[in-house]
Formats: sequence, C-alpha cells, structure tokens
Amino acid sequence: AAYLRTLVVGVDTVVPLVNGKKVTAINFDNAATTPPFVSVLKSVEDFAPWYSSIHRGSGYKSVLSSEIYEETRDAVKNFVKAGGQDVVIYTKNTTEAINMLAYLLRQEDGDQVVLSTDMEHLANDLPWQSQLAVDYVRVDRFGNLCLDDMEAKLKKYSGKVKLVTVTGASNVTGIINPVYRIATLAHAYGARILVDGAQWVPHCPVDMKPEDSPEHIDFLVFSAHKMYAPFGIGILIGPQAFFAQFPPVYQGGGDVRLVSRQMIEWQQPPAKNEAGTPNIMGVVALLAALKTLTGIGMSTVRNYERDLIHYALGGLSRLSGVTLYGWENNRQERVSLCSFTVQGIHHKLLAEVLSYEAGIAVRNGLFCAHPYVENLLQLSAEKLDYYHCHPEVPLPGMVRMSLGLYNNYAEIDKFLEALRWAIANKEYCRSQYIIKPDN
Ligand code: PMP
Repeated sequence: AAYLRTLVVGVDTVVPLVNGKKVTAINFDNAATTPPFVSVLKSVEDFAPWYSSIHRGSGYKSVLSSEIYEETRDAVKNFVKAGGQDVVIYTKNTTEAINMLAYLLRQEDGDQVVLSTDMEHLANDLPWQSQLAVDYVRVDRFGNLCLDDMEAKLKKYSGKVKLVTVTGASNVTGIINPVYRIATLAHAYGARILVDGAQWVPHCPVDMKPEDSPEHIDFLVFSAHKMYAPFGIGILIGPQAFFAQFPPVYQGGGDVRLVSRQMIEWQQPPAKNEAGTPNIMGVVALLAALKTLTGIGMSTVRNYERDLIHYALGGLSRLSGVTLYGWENNRQERVSLCSFTVQGIHHKLLAEVLSYEAGIAVRNGLFCAHPYVENLLQLSAEKLDYYHCHPEVPLPGMVRMSLGLYNNYAEIDKFLEALRWAIANKEYCRSQYIIKPDN
C-alpha cells in the first residue's frame, strides 16, 4: 500500500479547513476522476520535445509520434484482451464513444431495439434514446440487475434486439455486473453486447474473450481520466468490420483516402473514425498509465481495492443513521465505491462538511445516473414531478465515496471519524452551511 501511494501525483496536497487549519487532502472521488500517475506526468514531459502531428508529415518527430500513437492501440488491446478482429478507436471519453456507437448502429438496417438497463450512467442511456428504440432492464431493490427481466425482454423482442448495453460496474453502488453471463445471454438471442467499462476497466482485470466464445464482449468503452491518465482521451473497441460499414460520425481531415467532387473514399477504421488532428499527448499519457497498471497487476489492484471498500463498508454499516444503497448484506461483488445517505443531513451539506471540516473530497448528488438513484431512493413519479416543477428546491441524492489504488486504511478511518462527528453535530452543521439549489 505504501508503494502504491508513491505512484500517484498529489497524495500530499495540503488544503485549508474552515477553521483555518491545514490538512492533507483525502480524495475519495476517484470514480469521477483519478489523479495522474507520476509515470504519466513523466512520460508527457519526456515526450514534449517530440510533440508533433500524427500521420501528417514525414518529419522525424511526426513519424515517431505516429508510431507511438499506433503502438498504443496494441497496448490497449492487450490490456483488455481484445481480439484480432477488433480496432481501438481513440475518442474524447466514454460519453463520446457511446454517442459515436449509437450514431453508427442507427445506420444498420432493420427495425431493431437496444436493451439498456436501469442502472446506467446517462452516457449509456441518453445516446440510445436519441438514436434508437430502447428498452430498459429492471433492477431490484438492492440495486442488482434482474437477469430474468433481461431474458424476458430478449425473448419478447424475439431476435430484434441488436445490442444489449450494460455497465461493467455501477458508478453509484459499485456493483459489478456479471458481464460474461450477460454476453452469453445476449448472444443466445442474436444480440451483441456493449460494456461501459468506465468504472470497470480501471479496477478489475478485463478480458473481452475470443470472438467465437459466447462470453465475448463485442464493444467496450472507457475513459483514461478514470485510470490515472489525463482528460481528453477515451477508448472505443469493436470489430473492424462493423466500423467499416458506415460513414463516420465526425468527418474532415484524416478519415479519408481521397475526396473528389465525384466521391468520398474513406480510410479503413480506426483512422476512418478519428477525423481531425489526434490527441497524441493523451495517447502517450494513456500508454504510461497502462504500463504502470500492468506493472502493478490488475488482480493486485482488484484485491487491494476490494479489501479497502469492505473495510469502509464495515465502518459505514455500523454508523447510526447511515443508509447504504446497493447493499444486500455485503453479498454483492463491487468495485471500490459505495453510496449512502445520513438521516437528517442533506447529501450536499454532508459533502460540504466533509470537505470544509475534514479536507475529504467525496461526490454527492445523482451521479449522472438519475433513474438508478431515483429507484434506490424510491422516489415516486409524483415526487419527481415536484422536483421537475420546482427548480428552487435542492435535488435529492446520495453521498458517494470512491477509492483509488493509492488510498489507504488510515484515510478511511479519518473519513469514518469525520462522519461520526457530522452525525453527532447535525444541528451545528445545519446552522453553518446553507444548501443552495443545484442550478
Ligand atoms: N459511464 C460510467 C459508468 C461513468 O462512471 C462515467 C463517468 N462518470 C461515464 C460513463 C462517462 O465518462 P466520461 O465522463 O469520461 O465520458
């Protein structure tokens, strides 16, 4: 654990508290974004003198940049065990990757349906609604995906479901979905599967499995900024043949072989799907992050983070007035995050108290997974309508703590201590902090 801490930038950053004291910040908001690895910063710095445009020049620097850009695709493939038929497309982030895929799938023939779920981040929900007919697999009261409902819906649409899209791990409860079982189910009904890996790939060993396996993952997306690399680089992986069929979403330079007034001749994927000058610094950084993660070993990451979150959950479940969500007596497999509410303290107030009184960063709100959170909080349609109609009223929500591989038990103890203090001093907290509406 001490070694893992040395790998990350900013673990010793000091922040001021409301009482004027200064403390070392604790970052429990890794599900939003992780701090960069030291190796990532170093690689970007080392690469800076070689900085140049990709596939747009025969200068030495440009050729070198292009080589690194292409070689990183192989590193990405190895990291998630993608197959030979797959291409790695660089995007801006997970959101862009899913929007691109939705746009392309819409161009496929036939009157077909996408099956999403009620536990998705909005990035894996709204793009489907905007492009295709979509139905949602239910979740139970513990936040688990109902596989029976998934199968019933696959049956109901009798071969018309073109894609099952599901998160690898929830950004609200941390619950890890049985993606290989879901893949088998989807394939049995002639559907493909997309896994939203934004919260899964940074925390678990991932294996897309061979194409001829029923457990094969057809499409996978994730974001570098949640795996110790910077913003602005995401990944979309899928079969080359799929992307070869359709004109790309973004069109311009770099995605065409030849344009004349007679015709537009596209490049082959992945170049076809990467119009515009590419983000070489993002790719260099991602490569460094992948190397560092591979060096640690994703099983080591998984095991350490699993122990950490169980420790945190144990402490949280013993605090009076705390309600944990996606909590079935600790039976679920989850990545290193969990969400909760505290009776008598609004989620926004609690997040502010943790920050200003203890220097602990958490996230609060609906976590861009509104329907899932609304379900877990059991908000009626009537209640939701009330919130829609009253923008002056602060929205409901939860508090989320999400751990990275550099967090430790001592930080969790401080967090539990700060929570205990807040619970014991509810009145004081309420008198000190004013909750403002969300927009
Ligand atoms: N899916 C999940 C499960 C996420 O947690 C997030 C990020 N919160 C996203 C998708 C979107 O990722 P990005 O903002 O990097 O596009």
